[in-house]
Amino acid sequence: MTATATREAALLARVPDGLLIGGEWRAASGGETLDVVDPATGGTLKRIASASVEDGRAALDAACDAFPSWEATPARVRAEVLRRAFDVLTDRADEFALLMTLEMGKPLAEARGEVAYGAEFLRWFAEEAPRIAGRYGPNPEGTGRMIVTQHPVGPCYLITPWNFPLAMATRKIAPALAAGCTVVIKPAELTPLTTLAFAALLEEAGLPAGVVNVLTTHHSGAVSEPIIRDPRLRKLSFTGSTAVGVRLLEQAAAGVLRTSMELGGNAPFVVFEDAGLDAAVDGAMAAKFRNIGQACTAANRFIVHRSVAEEFARRVTERVAALRVGRGTEDGVQIGPLIDARAVDKASLLVRDAVDRGARLRTGGHAIDGAGTFFEPTVVSDVAAGSEILREEIFGPVLAIVPFDTEDQAVAIANDTEYGLVSYVFTESLARGQRMIERLATGMMGLNMGVVSNAAAPFGGWKMSGLGREGGAEGIHEYLQTKYTLTPAP
Ligand code: NAD
Repeated sequence: MTATATREAALLARVPDGLLIGGEWRAASGGETLDVVDPATGGTLKRIASASVEDGRAALDAACDAFPSWEATPARVRAEVLRRAFDVLTDRADEFALLMTLEMGKPLAEARGEVAYGAEFLRWFAEEAPRIAGRYGPNPEGTGRMIVTQHPVGPCYLITPWNFPLAMATRKIAPALAAGCTVVIKPAELTPLTTLAFAALLEEAGLPAGVVNVLTTHHSGAVSEPIIRDPRLRKLSFTGSTAVGVRLLEQAAAGVLRTSMELGGNAPFVVFEDAGLDAAVDGAMAAKFRNIGQACTAANRFIVHRSVAEEFARRVTERVAALRVGRGTEDGVQIGPLIDARAVDKASLLVRDAVDRGARLRTGGHAIDGAGTFFEPTVVSDVAAGSEILREEIFGPVLAIVPFDTEDQAVAIANDTEYGLVSYVFTESLARGQRMIERLATGMMGLNMGVVSNAAAPFGGWKMSGLGREGGAEGIHEYLQTKYTLTPAP
């Protein structure tokens, strides 16, 4: 065994393989397991427990039992647990980065970036917890006093996707714990190891038993529905595809359950004729190829003014053709594998459809033969209206360019989607930038920036991209409920 393989094996051996329920790591009640696979090799990394419906109920029981004492724990003490978790996670950044690269495939440098980003939610919400505030004041008639207080909503169910295994977990767990809520978290079955390792870290940081419970399962639907329909559950926070989000909203409706939904995107990336082209090309590389294109914030449609479209396409093609593809653990690799064979098929189909409708394939365009699920970094230009690639989330390393002639046309194309998560705009005109802030139907915007994610900012979408916000001063309110009391004037 090489030194690298030994290090990977030792790391994987330390990750718990059970469900965390009420402070105990246990096997699934039905004895079922699931195998976690390295998408770069197709090899199995680890076998872990796969929860049954009964395990789901037990996890919710544990979160309900732990709620009264966690709710009563002073905010400062809750904050200290989060802050310790931030410190330990930061110390172990390399370990968590490697674990994510192994189970998800992203290049190590990006995985380190995700650890820093993910850890920041722990620090941010450790700082927010002591600032949960209310207000006291006279009613307008002067005859009474109004007292407004904030309370944790109660036990929460958190469901996370596979593409950012750490950050999607901390972005939900940190505000929930800061608010005084207890949780059951269900990571994606494709990348559950990071959440298991993070839950063990929270125990080390002093989190009491039952405050965070972890369910890993390949029966996501069957295990989740009874939890969502249980009247003891007070909040569902989901990050994933819009199709699943809509189904969960239907389940949540029966109990008028509070929900936060971080769903899909179809981000426009608009390059005006007055853009700094160097900045636009750098921004495009970050907005498109970060996480191998598998981000809800990934730029999906490059809408470029006709006068600079050829130059932009030439420059990005040069950069894209030079991207190094390989296993994310290897030095210098910039593009890892896609998560599975289905993702590769989807990218292939979208490129083929665009080319069949007249787009020009400038580089890439094909699945890469051999072990793992790799797809060539790709650029297609002159994409025709009506092509599937403009409608669907690509979720792969494919950059699609559409030309435009007028600002109104750029706005119309950018807004022509059911989604509204993030938009990117490149222009050196302040007035035009301001107009775009007002005209684009989007929850977030990068103005001359290719990445917007930040723990201090309210992350979330408009339209079919979701409900609610994660991060920022807004993030903790997703886990708090308001009570107003009227009392006579003294
Ligand atoms: P997905 O919807 O298939 O799965 C998300 C999670 O839901 C996983 O944990 C999965 O196991 C679970 N799930 C699937 N079916 C379920 C069911 N019937 N009941 C309960 N849980 C179920 O999405 P994915 O493929 O893991 O992630 C990619 C999607 O997530 C993309 O659409 C992407 O845009 C979106 N995403 C959004 C954000 C955001 O913040 N807006 C961030 C990351 C990813």
